[in-house]
Order: sequence, then C-alpha cells, then structure tokens
Amino acid sequence: MTNEEIRRFINNARPHIQGNPNLRDPQVERWFRKRQHFRNSSEHAILQIPVGCNETGLMALLPFETVQRRRHCSRNQKHVICHGDKCLVIKENMSKNNYCMKCAALILQKAREELVCLITESKEDNDATTG
Ligand SMILES: [Zn+2]
Repeated sequence: MTNEEIRRFINNARPHIQGNPNLRDPQVERWFRKRQHFRNSSEHAILQIPVGCNETGLMALLPFETVQRRRHCSRNQKHVICHGDKCLVIKENMSKNNYCMKCAALILQKAREELVCLITESKEDNDATTG
C-alpha cells in the first residue's frame, strides 16, 4: 500500500470497537479513554494495559480518530488535516507541530538520510581514530 492508500483506508475505516467480541474489555476501555482524552485535549497521553491483554491489538486501534479537530499542517499551511486524519506530531521545546501524512513522509525520509550521514561520519571518525 502507498502512504496515500493507507491514509485513505484509515480515514474511511469505521472501526467496530464497542460490542466487538474479538476485543477484550481492557482494549475497548482504553480505546474509549483515548478517544475521550483527545476530544478534550491535544496533550500527550500514556495508556497502561495489563500484560497479556493484547497491547499490540490496542496499538493497531489507536490511529483511529486521533485528530479530533481541523488543523493546518505546520510545514505547509495550505495542507489541511481534517477530523479523523492521522498526523505526525513533533514537540520541540514548548511548541507542538502537526504534519499531514504527505509532509510526514518527507520529514521522515530527510531524517533517515541525515541519520545515515551521521552514522557514516561516525564510522569514518572511528576508523580514523582506531586505524
Ligand atoms: Zn503537510
């Protein structure tokens, strides 16, 4: 799937949470608490779930409805992040930036390239020191 296809899938999906017999009570409860939290706040949250209650299954549910109100992308104000869209959130000092998935892909690609450069420089420095 391309990023656009994933974004479209997440935006169009209507997850069956309440009353889904394949989910455990702690998963359903945490999902509703997450939704309630992000409807009232844009602050980070920590979810605790007992071991063995399928934490991975809960994580798979979390991208749904994480953006509750319309926002503009911090990288390009013409990009609108709509209700229900998944977005990348980067906190720097006291500010918080939201990026649409298109910009997130570019930011992550650039970060990956910079990381590769840093690793290469680090290896060269190490080789020069030890060689
Ligand atoms: Zn954007």
